[in-house]
Amino acid sequence: MEARRKNQGEKPVGTVGKIRLGKRTVLIPEMNRAAALLLAATFRGFGVEAKALETYKGLDLGKEYTSGKECYPCQVTLGDILYFVQKEKERLGSAFDPGQYVYFLPESDGPCRFGLYNRFQRIVLDSFPGLNRLTISSITTRDGYSFSGILEKDKVLDFQKSGYVAVVVADIMDRLLWRIRPYEKKAGMADEFIEISLHKLEKTFEKHGPTKDFNKILDEVVRITEEGKTLIDPKIPPKPLIGMVGEIFLRTHVQSNQEIIRLLEKYGAEVVNASVAEWANYVSYDGLRNAKAQVRLNLKQLRFSLLWSKLKELLGFGIDLYYKEYRQNQVYKRVEPVLDLVGDHKISHLEEILKEKDLFSFDVATEACLSIGSIISCSRAGYNGMVNVYPFTCMPSTTTSAVVKPLMSELGIPYLDAPYDSSIQPSREAAIRTFMYQAEQHFNRHGRMRRNSAH
Ligand code: SF4
Repeated sequence: MEARRKNQGEKPVGTVGKIRLGKRTVLIPEMNRAAALLLAATFRGFGVEAKALETYKGLDLGKEYTSGKECYPCQVTLGDILYFVQKEKERLGSAFDPGQYVYFLPESDGPCRFGLYNRFQRIVLDSFPGLNRLTISSITTRDGYSFSGILEKDKVLDFQKSGYVAVVVADIMDRLLWRIRPYEKKAGMADEFIEISLHKLEKTFEKHGPTKDFNKILDEVVRITEEGKTLIDPKIPPKPLIGMVGEIFLRTHVQSNQEIIRLLEKYGAEVVNASVAEWANYVSYDGLRNAKAQVRLNLKQLRFSLLWSKLKELLGFGIDLYYKEYRQNQVYKRVEPVLDLVGDHKISHLEEILKEKDLFSFDVATEACLSIGSIISCSRAGYNGMVNVYPFTCMPSTTTSAVVKPLMSELGIPYLDAPYDSSIQPSREAAIRTFMYQAEQHFNRHGRMRRNSAH
Protein backbone atom coordinates (compact mmCIF):
# COMPACT_ATOMS: atom_id res chain seq x y z
CA MET A 1 0.00 0.00 0.00
CA GLU A 2 2.91 2.32 0.75
CA ALA A 3 4.28 1.83 -2.77
CA ARG A 4 0.81 2.35 -4.21
CA ARG A 5 0.40 5.65 -2.35
CA LYS A 6 3.85 6.69 -3.45
CA ASN A 7 3.19 6.15 -7.14
CA GLN A 8 0.29 8.62 -7.31
CA GLY A 9 1.47 11.62 -9.36
CA GLU A 10 5.08 10.38 -9.67
CA LYS A 11 7.19 10.62 -12.82
CA PRO A 12 9.13 7.63 -14.20
CA VAL A 13 12.70 7.27 -12.93
CA GLY A 14 13.78 4.02 -14.56
CA THR A 15 14.09 3.53 -18.28
CA VAL A 16 11.12 3.05 -20.59
CA GLY A 17 10.95 3.28 -24.38
CA LYS A 18 13.03 1.89 -27.21
CA ILE A 19 15.79 0.36 -25.13
CA ARG A 20 18.47 -1.97 -26.52
CA LEU A 21 17.91 -5.49 -25.12
CA GLY A 22 21.59 -6.39 -24.95
CA LYS A 23 22.51 -9.45 -22.91
CA ARG A 24 19.58 -9.22 -20.52
CA THR A 25 16.67 -11.65 -20.28
CA VAL A 26 13.61 -10.39 -22.13
CA LEU A 27 10.30 -10.98 -20.34
CA ILE A 28 7.32 -11.23 -22.68
CA PRO A 29 3.80 -10.81 -21.27
CA GLU A 30 1.59 -13.74 -22.22
CA MET A 31 -1.37 -12.12 -23.95
CA ASN A 32 -1.82 -15.02 -26.30
CA ARG A 33 0.04 -18.16 -25.22
CA ALA A 34 1.00 -19.35 -28.70
CA ALA A 35 2.29 -15.94 -29.83
CA ALA A 36 4.22 -15.31 -26.59
CA LEU A 37 5.97 -18.71 -26.74
CA LEU A 38 6.87 -18.43 -30.43
CA LEU A 39 8.02 -14.83 -30.15
CA ALA A 40 10.24 -15.71 -27.18
CA ALA A 41 11.65 -18.63 -29.20
CA THR A 42 12.37 -16.28 -32.12
CA PHE A 43 14.23 -13.92 -29.79
CA ARG A 44 16.30 -16.85 -28.49
CA GLY A 45 17.11 -17.87 -32.06
CA PHE A 46 18.54 -14.39 -32.58
CA GLY A 47 20.75 -14.79 -29.52
CA VAL A 48 18.55 -12.88 -27.04
CA GLU A 49 17.58 -14.75 -23.88
CA ALA A 50 13.78 -14.50 -23.68
CA LYS A 51 10.87 -16.13 -21.85
CA ALA A 52 7.10 -15.74 -21.72
CA LEU A 53 5.93 -14.54 -18.29
CA GLU A 54 3.66 -16.78 -16.28
CA THR A 55 0.28 -15.14 -16.42
CA TYR A 56 -2.68 -14.36 -14.18
CA LYS A 57 -1.03 -15.61 -11.00
CA GLY A 58 -0.27 -12.05 -9.87
CA LEU A 59 -3.68 -10.46 -10.49
CA ASP A 60 -4.01 -9.52 -6.81
CA LEU A 61 -0.71 -7.65 -7.04
CA GLY A 62 -1.88 -5.94 -10.23
CA LYS A 63 -5.01 -4.78 -8.46
CA GLU A 64 -3.15 -3.70 -5.35
CA TYR A 65 -0.91 -1.31 -7.26
CA THR A 66 -3.57 0.21 -9.51
CA SER A 67 -6.37 2.61 -8.58
CA GLY A 68 -9.16 0.76 -10.42
CA LYS A 69 -9.42 3.38 -13.17
CA GLU A 70 -6.90 1.60 -15.39
CA CYS A 71 -7.92 -0.84 -18.11
CA TYR A 72 -8.14 -4.46 -17.00
CA PRO A 73 -5.26 -5.64 -19.28
CA CYS A 74 -3.02 -3.10 -17.52
CA GLN A 75 -3.85 -4.71 -14.15
CA VAL A 76 -3.22 -8.20 -15.53
CA THR A 77 0.14 -7.38 -17.14
CA LEU A 78 1.29 -5.35 -14.11
CA GLY A 79 0.39 -8.32 -11.91
CA ASP A 80 2.38 -10.64 -14.17
CA ILE A 81 5.59 -8.63 -13.91
CA LEU A 82 5.23 -8.06 -10.14
CA TYR A 83 4.58 -11.78 -9.62
CA PHE A 84 7.65 -12.63 -11.68
CA VAL A 85 9.80 -10.32 -9.54
CA GLN A 86 8.38 -11.80 -6.33
CA LYS A 87 9.07 -15.38 -7.45
CA GLU A 88 12.50 -14.55 -8.86
CA LYS A 89 13.47 -12.92 -5.56
CA GLU A 90 12.37 -16.04 -3.69
CA ARG A 91 14.31 -18.25 -6.11
CA LEU A 92 17.54 -16.27 -6.23
CA GLY A 93 17.58 -14.52 -2.87
CA SER A 94 20.35 -11.90 -2.64
CA ALA A 95 21.61 -12.89 -6.13
CA PHE A 96 18.45 -11.39 -7.69
CA ASP A 97 19.52 -8.52 -9.92
CA PRO A 98 16.67 -6.49 -11.55
CA GLY A 99 19.20 -5.02 -13.99
CA GLN A 100 19.42 -8.43 -15.66
CA TYR A 101 15.89 -8.24 -17.09
CA VAL A 102 14.05 -6.28 -19.76
CA TYR A 103 10.28 -6.22 -19.58
CA PHE A 104 8.94 -6.06 -23.15
CA LEU A 105 5.74 -4.02 -23.28
CA PRO A 106 4.64 -2.67 -26.69
CA GLU A 107 2.53 0.48 -26.87
CA SER A 108 -0.01 1.99 -29.17
CA ASP A 109 -0.51 5.52 -30.39
CA GLY A 110 -3.95 7.12 -30.55
CA PRO A 111 -6.78 7.86 -28.16
CA CYS A 112 -6.44 4.66 -26.10
CA ARG A 113 -4.88 4.21 -22.69
CA PHE A 114 -2.70 1.38 -24.07
CA GLY A 115 -0.09 4.02 -24.93
CA LEU A 116 0.29 4.72 -21.22
CA TYR A 117 0.54 1.20 -19.77
CA ASN A 118 4.33 1.14 -19.96
CA ARG A 119 4.75 4.60 -18.40
CA PHE A 120 2.30 3.79 -15.62
CA GLN A 121 3.94 0.43 -14.95
CA ARG A 122 7.33 2.17 -14.93
CA ILE A 123 6.11 4.40 -12.09
CA VAL A 124 4.85 1.38 -10.16
CA LEU A 125 8.13 -0.53 -10.61
CA ASP A 126 10.09 2.56 -9.56
CA SER A 127 8.20 2.61 -6.27
CA PHE A 128 9.91 -0.65 -5.23
CA PRO A 129 13.53 -0.52 -4.04
CA GLY A 130 15.90 -1.47 -6.88
CA LEU A 131 13.22 -2.10 -9.51
CA ASN A 132 14.07 1.13 -11.34
CA ARG A 133 16.88 -1.00 -12.78
CA LEU A 134 14.40 -3.36 -14.40
CA THR A 135 14.17 -1.82 -17.87
CA ILE A 136 10.91 -1.56 -19.81
CA SER A 137 11.52 -1.78 -23.55
CA SER A 138 8.72 -0.87 -25.95
CA ILE A 139 8.00 -1.00 -29.61
CA THR A 140 5.45 1.49 -30.83
CA THR A 141 2.77 1.75 -33.52
CA ARG A 142 4.22 5.17 -34.49
CA ASP A 143 6.93 3.47 -36.58
CA GLY A 144 4.96 0.29 -37.32
CA TYR A 145 6.49 -1.69 -34.40
CA SER A 146 10.02 -1.37 -35.73
CA PHE A 147 12.71 -3.09 -33.65
CA SER A 148 15.30 -0.55 -34.68
CA GLY A 149 17.09 0.70 -31.56
CA ILE A 150 16.10 -2.48 -29.68
CA LEU A 151 18.19 -5.04 -31.52
CA GLU A 152 21.53 -4.70 -33.31
CA LYS A 153 21.11 -2.95 -36.65
CA ASP A 154 22.01 -6.01 -38.74
CA LYS A 155 19.35 -8.15 -36.99
CA VAL A 156 16.41 -5.73 -37.06
CA LEU A 157 14.84 -6.57 -40.43
CA ASP A 158 15.37 -10.32 -40.21
CA PHE A 159 13.91 -10.40 -36.70
CA GLN A 160 10.86 -8.41 -37.74
CA LYS A 161 10.20 -10.83 -40.59
CA SER A 162 10.64 -13.97 -38.48
CA GLY A 163 8.72 -12.40 -35.58
CA TYR A 164 5.79 -11.68 -37.88
CA VAL A 165 5.80 -15.28 -39.17
CA ALA A 166 5.79 -16.42 -35.52
CA VAL A 167 2.63 -14.37 -34.92
CA VAL A 168 0.89 -15.81 -38.02
CA VAL A 169 1.89 -19.38 -37.14
CA ALA A 170 0.57 -18.78 -33.61
CA ASP A 171 -2.74 -17.70 -35.18
CA ILE A 172 -2.77 -20.91 -37.22
CA MET A 173 -2.18 -22.98 -34.06
CA ASP A 174 -5.12 -21.23 -32.38
CA ARG A 175 -7.34 -21.78 -35.41
CA LEU A 176 -6.29 -25.41 -35.47
CA LEU A 177 -7.30 -25.77 -31.82
CA TRP A 178 -10.72 -24.14 -32.41
CA ARG A 179 -11.22 -26.31 -35.50
CA ILE A 180 -10.39 -29.59 -33.73
CA ARG A 181 -11.69 -29.13 -30.19
CA PRO A 182 -15.44 -29.02 -30.92
CA TYR A 183 -15.08 -32.25 -32.95
CA GLU A 184 -12.36 -34.10 -31.00
CA LYS A 185 -12.59 -37.89 -30.63
CA LYS A 186 -11.83 -37.73 -26.91
CA ALA A 187 -12.21 -34.76 -24.54
CA GLY A 188 -8.90 -33.01 -23.85
CA MET A 189 -7.05 -34.39 -26.89
CA ALA A 190 -6.96 -31.10 -28.79
CA ASP A 191 -5.59 -29.00 -25.91
CA GLU A 192 -2.88 -31.53 -25.15
CA PHE A 193 -1.93 -31.86 -28.81
CA ILE A 194 -1.63 -28.08 -29.34
CA GLU A 195 0.50 -27.63 -26.21
CA ILE A 196 2.93 -30.33 -27.39
CA SER A 197 2.94 -28.85 -30.90
CA LEU A 198 3.77 -25.38 -29.60
CA HIS A 199 6.85 -26.73 -27.86
CA LYS A 200 7.93 -28.40 -31.13
CA LEU A 201 7.44 -25.10 -32.93
CA GLU A 202 9.51 -23.26 -30.33
CA LYS A 203 12.46 -25.43 -31.37
CA THR A 204 11.67 -24.84 -35.05
CA PHE A 205 11.64 -21.05 -34.62
CA GLU A 206 14.82 -21.09 -32.54
CA LYS A 207 16.56 -22.98 -35.35
CA HIS A 208 15.08 -21.56 -38.55
CA GLY A 209 13.89 -18.09 -37.46
CA PRO A 210 17.31 -16.41 -37.69
CA THR A 211 18.00 -17.82 -41.19
CA LYS A 212 14.43 -17.00 -42.32
CA ASP A 213 14.06 -20.54 -43.59
CA PHE A 214 10.29 -20.18 -43.64
CA ASN A 215 9.76 -23.27 -45.80
CA LYS A 216 11.19 -25.47 -43.05
CA ILE A 217 8.98 -23.72 -40.50
CA LEU A 218 5.92 -24.19 -42.71
CA ASP A 219 6.79 -27.86 -43.31
CA GLU A 220 6.52 -28.34 -39.55
CA VAL A 221 3.24 -26.39 -39.43
CA VAL A 222 1.82 -28.63 -42.19
CA ARG A 223 2.97 -31.78 -40.33
CA ILE A 224 1.25 -30.56 -37.17
CA THR A 225 -1.93 -29.71 -39.08
CA GLU A 226 -1.97 -33.17 -40.68
CA GLU A 227 -1.60 -34.81 -37.29
CA GLY A 228 -4.20 -32.51 -35.74
CA LYS A 229 -6.70 -33.45 -38.42
CA THR A 230 -6.61 -37.07 -37.27
CA LEU A 231 -8.08 -36.02 -33.90
CA ILE A 232 -11.33 -34.92 -35.54
CA ASP A 233 -14.22 -37.34 -35.25
CA PRO A 234 -15.83 -37.33 -38.73
CA LYS A 235 -19.10 -38.59 -37.25
CA ILE A 236 -19.71 -35.26 -35.44
CA PRO A 237 -21.77 -33.00 -37.74
CA PRO A 238 -20.83 -29.33 -38.35
CA LYS A 239 -21.83 -26.92 -35.57
CA PRO A 240 -22.97 -23.28 -35.67
CA LEU A 241 -20.04 -21.01 -36.51
CA ILE A 242 -19.49 -18.11 -34.11
CA GLY A 243 -17.17 -15.18 -34.86
CA MET A 244 -15.36 -13.36 -32.09
CA VAL A 245 -14.05 -9.80 -32.18
CA GLY A 246 -13.16 -7.19 -29.58
CA GLU A 247 -10.22 -5.85 -27.63
CA ILE A 248 -7.13 -7.86 -28.56
CA PHE A 249 -5.91 -8.63 -25.03
CA LEU A 250 -9.24 -9.76 -23.64
CA ARG A 251 -10.29 -11.83 -26.60
CA THR A 252 -6.95 -13.70 -26.72
CA HIS A 253 -6.07 -13.95 -23.01
CA VAL A 254 -8.08 -16.99 -22.00
CA GLN A 255 -7.72 -16.43 -18.26
CA SER A 256 -9.05 -12.86 -18.44
CA ASN A 257 -12.00 -13.84 -20.63
CA GLN A 258 -12.77 -16.80 -18.35
CA GLU A 259 -12.34 -19.22 -21.26
CA ILE A 260 -15.25 -17.84 -23.22
CA ILE A 261 -14.41 -19.90 -26.33
CA ARG A 262 -14.51 -23.12 -24.30
CA LEU A 263 -17.82 -22.03 -22.77
CA LEU A 264 -19.31 -21.32 -26.20
CA GLU A 265 -18.06 -24.73 -27.36
CA LYS A 266 -19.71 -26.33 -24.33
CA TYR A 267 -23.04 -25.02 -25.64
CA GLY A 268 -22.47 -26.27 -29.17
CA ALA A 269 -20.36 -23.68 -31.01
CA GLU A 270 -17.38 -23.78 -33.30
CA VAL A 271 -15.63 -20.44 -32.74
CA VAL A 272 -13.21 -18.38 -34.83
CA ASN A 273 -11.60 -15.50 -32.96
CA ALA A 274 -10.06 -12.50 -34.77
CA SER A 275 -6.34 -13.07 -35.32
CA VAL A 276 -3.41 -11.40 -33.56
CA ALA A 277 -1.81 -10.69 -36.97
CA GLU A 278 -4.86 -8.56 -37.74
CA TRP A 279 -3.54 -5.90 -35.32
CA ALA A 280 0.01 -6.06 -36.75
CA ASN A 281 -1.39 -5.63 -40.28
CA TYR A 282 -3.65 -2.81 -39.13
CA VAL A 283 -0.68 -0.92 -37.65
CA SER A 284 1.07 -0.95 -41.06
CA TYR A 285 -2.17 -0.17 -42.88
CA ASP A 286 -2.91 2.78 -40.60
CA GLY A 287 0.67 4.08 -40.96
CA LEU A 288 0.34 3.90 -44.75
CA ARG A 289 -3.03 5.63 -44.65
CA ASN A 290 -1.72 8.47 -42.48
CA ALA A 291 1.42 8.87 -44.61
CA LYS A 292 -0.75 9.15 -47.75
CA ALA A 293 -2.85 11.87 -46.11
CA GLN A 294 0.32 13.76 -45.08
CA VAL A 295 1.75 13.53 -48.60
CA ARG A 296 -1.47 14.95 -50.04
CA LEU A 297 -1.53 17.77 -47.47
CA ASN A 298 2.12 18.75 -47.99
CA LEU A 299 1.66 18.71 -51.76
CA LYS A 300 -1.36 20.94 -51.45
CA GLN A 301 0.50 23.37 -49.21
CA LEU A 302 3.68 23.13 -51.34
CA ARG A 303 5.76 22.15 -48.29
CA PHE A 304 8.42 20.23 -50.18
CA SER A 305 10.86 19.94 -47.28
CA LEU A 306 8.37 17.76 -45.35
CA LEU A 307 7.10 16.01 -48.43
CA TRP A 308 10.23 13.92 -48.88
CA SER A 309 10.15 12.47 -45.35
CA LYS A 310 6.44 11.68 -45.73
CA LEU A 311 7.11 9.94 -49.04
CA LYS A 312 9.76 7.82 -47.31
CA GLU A 313 7.24 6.94 -44.58
CA LEU A 314 4.67 6.03 -47.20
CA LEU A 315 7.11 3.73 -48.94
CA GLY A 316 8.21 2.13 -45.65
CA PHE A 317 4.67 1.38 -44.44
CA GLY A 318 3.65 0.27 -47.95
CA ILE A 319 6.48 -2.28 -48.18
CA ASP A 320 5.79 -3.45 -44.64
CA LEU A 321 2.10 -4.05 -45.33
CA TYR A 322 2.82 -5.78 -48.63
CA TYR A 323 5.31 -8.09 -46.92
CA LYS A 324 2.94 -8.96 -44.09
CA GLU A 325 0.01 -9.73 -46.37
CA TYR A 326 2.24 -11.78 -48.65
CA ARG A 327 3.64 -13.87 -45.78
CA GLN A 328 0.29 -14.31 -44.06
CA ASN A 329 -1.23 -15.50 -47.30
CA GLN A 330 1.69 -17.90 -47.84
CA VAL A 331 1.21 -19.50 -44.42
CA TYR A 332 -2.57 -19.94 -44.83
CA LYS A 333 -2.10 -21.30 -48.36
CA ARG A 334 0.27 -24.00 -47.10
CA VAL A 335 -2.23 -25.41 -44.60
CA GLU A 336 -5.32 -24.94 -46.78
CA PRO A 337 -4.98 -28.25 -48.74
CA VAL A 338 -4.56 -30.15 -45.46
CA LEU A 339 -7.41 -28.79 -43.36
CA ASP A 340 -10.24 -26.32 -43.91
CA LEU A 341 -9.18 -23.61 -41.44
CA VAL A 342 -10.92 -20.25 -41.78
CA GLY A 343 -8.70 -17.70 -43.54
CA ASP A 344 -8.01 -14.12 -42.48
CA HIS A 345 -9.24 -10.88 -44.03
CA LYS A 346 -7.36 -7.90 -45.44
CA ILE A 347 -7.62 -4.64 -43.50
CA SER A 348 -8.50 -2.77 -46.71
CA HIS A 349 -11.57 -5.02 -46.99
CA LEU A 350 -12.75 -3.86 -43.56
CA GLU A 351 -12.32 -0.20 -44.47
CA GLU A 352 -14.27 -0.72 -47.70
CA ILE A 353 -17.15 -2.19 -45.68
CA LEU A 354 -17.19 0.77 -43.29
CA LYS A 355 -17.14 3.24 -46.16
CA GLU A 356 -19.86 1.43 -48.04
CA LYS A 357 -22.19 1.46 -45.02
CA ASP A 358 -20.92 4.83 -43.74
CA LEU A 359 -20.91 3.33 -40.27
CA PHE A 360 -17.61 4.39 -38.81
CA SER A 361 -14.31 5.82 -40.01
CA PHE A 362 -10.75 4.57 -39.96
CA ASP A 363 -9.86 8.21 -39.19
CA VAL A 364 -11.02 7.56 -35.61
CA ALA A 365 -8.55 4.64 -35.46
CA THR A 366 -8.54 2.08 -32.54
CA GLU A 367 -9.84 -1.47 -32.67
CA ALA A 368 -13.41 -0.26 -33.17
CA CYS A 369 -12.84 0.06 -36.93
CA LEU A 370 -11.54 -3.53 -37.04
CA SER A 371 -14.31 -4.97 -34.88
CA ILE A 372 -17.18 -3.18 -36.64
CA GLY A 373 -15.81 -4.10 -40.09
CA SER A 374 -15.22 -7.72 -39.03
CA ILE A 375 -18.68 -8.16 -37.56
CA ILE A 376 -20.29 -7.07 -40.83
CA SER A 377 -17.84 -9.08 -42.91
CA CYS A 378 -18.49 -12.26 -40.88
CA SER A 379 -22.25 -11.71 -40.91
CA ARG A 380 -22.19 -11.51 -44.69
CA ALA A 381 -19.92 -14.54 -44.97
CA GLY A 382 -22.44 -16.77 -43.19
CA TYR A 383 -21.44 -16.87 -39.52
CA ASN A 384 -24.30 -17.84 -37.22
CA GLY A 385 -23.53 -15.37 -34.43
CA MET A 386 -20.98 -12.76 -33.30
CA VAL A 387 -19.45 -12.09 -29.88
CA ASN A 388 -17.67 -8.89 -28.85
CA VAL A 389 -15.22 -9.55 -25.97
CA TYR A 390 -13.65 -6.64 -24.12
CA PRO A 391 -12.50 -5.18 -20.81
CA PHE A 392 -15.26 -3.46 -18.84
CA THR A 393 -15.27 0.27 -19.80
CA CYS A 394 -13.07 -0.30 -22.88
CA MET A 395 -13.66 2.70 -25.11
CA PRO A 396 -13.32 1.19 -28.63
CA SER A 397 -15.33 -1.91 -27.79
CA THR A 398 -18.15 0.08 -26.20
CA THR A 399 -18.24 2.14 -29.41
CA THR A 400 -18.36 -1.10 -31.42
CA SER A 401 -21.29 -2.33 -29.39
CA ALA A 402 -23.23 0.91 -29.85
CA VAL A 403 -22.69 0.90 -33.63
CA VAL A 404 -23.37 -2.76 -34.42
CA LYS A 405 -26.23 -3.70 -32.07
CA PRO A 406 -29.04 -2.10 -34.13
CA LEU A 407 -27.46 -3.43 -37.30
CA MET A 408 -27.31 -7.00 -36.01
CA SER A 409 -30.95 -7.03 -35.03
CA GLU A 410 -31.77 -5.67 -38.50
CA LEU A 411 -29.70 -8.49 -40.07
CA GLY A 412 -31.26 -11.06 -37.74
CA ILE A 413 -27.87 -12.36 -36.59
CA PRO A 414 -27.38 -13.24 -32.90
CA TYR A 415 -24.96 -10.86 -31.16
CA LEU A 416 -23.48 -10.88 -27.66
CA ASP A 417 -21.45 -8.30 -25.75
CA ALA A 418 -19.07 -9.93 -23.27
CA PRO A 419 -17.31 -7.38 -21.01
CA TYR A 420 -14.91 -8.66 -18.33
CA ASP A 421 -13.21 -7.14 -15.29
CA SER A 422 -12.12 -10.28 -13.35
CA SER A 423 -15.36 -10.53 -11.34
CA ILE A 424 -17.53 -13.61 -11.82
CA GLN A 425 -20.83 -12.68 -13.41
CA PRO A 426 -23.47 -15.22 -12.40
CA SER A 427 -25.61 -14.46 -15.47
CA ARG A 428 -22.79 -14.92 -17.99
CA GLU A 429 -23.39 -18.63 -18.63
CA ALA A 430 -27.14 -18.09 -18.99
CA ALA A 431 -26.47 -15.30 -21.53
CA ILE A 432 -24.17 -17.58 -23.51
CA ARG A 433 -26.70 -20.40 -23.46
CA THR A 434 -29.42 -18.09 -24.75
CA PHE A 435 -27.08 -16.72 -27.40
CA MET A 436 -26.17 -20.23 -28.53
CA TYR A 437 -29.85 -21.19 -28.72
CA GLN A 438 -30.37 -18.26 -31.12
CA ALA A 439 -27.24 -19.20 -33.09
CA GLU A 440 -28.51 -22.78 -33.41
CA GLN A 441 -31.82 -21.46 -34.79
CA HIS A 442 -29.93 -19.29 -37.28
CA PHE A 443 -27.80 -22.29 -38.28
CA ASN A 444 -30.86 -24.49 -38.80
CA ARG A 445 -32.51 -21.86 -40.99
CA HIS A 446 -29.54 -20.58 -43.01
CA GLY A 447 -26.77 -23.18 -42.73
CA ARG A 448 -23.27 -21.86 -42.16
CA MET A 449 -20.25 -20.43 -43.92
CA ARG A 450 -18.08 -22.72 -45.99
CA ARG A 451 -14.71 -23.08 -44.26
CA ASN A 452 -11.46 -22.28 -46.08
CA SER A 453 -12.58 -18.81 -47.00
CA ALA A 454 -11.62 -15.46 -45.57
CA HIS A 455 -14.38 -13.36 -44.08
S1 SF4 B 1 -8.44 -0.76 -26.17
FE1 SF4 B 1 -9.76 -0.65 -24.36
S2 SF4 B 1 -8.65 -1.84 -22.83
FE2 SF4 B 1 -7.19 -1.35 -24.43
S3 SF4 B 1 -6.25 0.57 -23.75
FE3 SF4 B 1 -7.94 1.13 -25.05
S4 SF4 B 1 -9.66 1.48 -23.65
FE4 SF4 B 1 -8.09 0.30 -22.56
